[in-house]
Amino acid sequence: MRHAFAVAAGLAALVGYAPGAGGGAERPAGPGAEPAPVATVAPAPADRAAERARMVDEQIAARGVADPAVLAAMRRVPRHEFVPAPRRAEAYGDHPLPIGAGQTISQPYIVALMTELAAAGPRARVLEIGTGSGYQAAVLAALGADVYTIEIVPSLAASAAATFARLGYRSIHARQGDGYHGWPEAAPFAAIVVTAAPPSPPPALIEQLAPGGRLVVPIGVADQELQVYEKGADGGVRVRRVTPVRFVPMTGGDR
Ligand code: SAH
Repeated sequence: MRHAFAVAAGLAALVGYAPGAGGGAERPAGPGAEPAPVATVAPAPADRAAERARMVDEQIAARGVADPAVLAAMRRVPRHEFVPAPRRAEAYGDHPLPIGAGQTISQPYIVALMTELAAAGPRARVLEIGTGSGYQAAVLAALGADVYTIEIVPSLAASAAATFARLGYRSIHARQGDGYHGWPEAAPFAAIVVTAAPPSPPPALIEQLAPGGRLVVPIGVADQELQVYEKGADGGVRVRRVTPVRFVPMTGGDR
């Protein structure tokens, strides 16, 4: 199975971060371990804010995501609410997780990086292709953006819509369909974030960028690269290559 997982090994080495070290899951006490004193371990707060703060420090800020608004959004959005119940304990781990239908919720660092590259401030209109669990859309909404998101798999589109309603995300407009053609009725967008990999940038998405807008997209089949297409005020498009990544393939597009 392929995951929406950043191949961030080089980057991780650069910051000296060992994925998994000290991360979240508690080990059972071995024979010789001190018995845990009763009543000193408070139950984890239901919203798990401390785990999120640690995720931001160790996985995201440590790898160079610096935009304070993005870091605040990553601290605020309850990622565990977007993870299927059986995997919720792992919600703040440094990796993607399965969400059903062979798809994944992306690694937290990749969500933060794509959000920073999208640079979508309050009231910006943003399109996401590949709603999946709905987590990336919720992070964009937490920045104050007006979010449009499209998911091709009906069961995932339905469960993400239910999650948005349950958590009260009113600025997210979600629909089921093929995002290859974008959402022309809601265009133009200040930013478009694509969380499944097409072999090349879908022309409709470039078309639906506002002047000054940015398309953040993993491009490629076997080897993928995160790229940013920026539309200038004159309509010209510049591309920036960011980092190697690994995402599920974009389907649909009549291809
Ligand atoms: N952004 C998601 C990650 C989703 S993984 C999250 O935060 O959880 C990528 C998703 O893209 C999958 O759910 C997959 O079904 C969807 N997808 C693939 N091709 C698509 C297309 N052409 N249009 C819309 N969604 C697509």
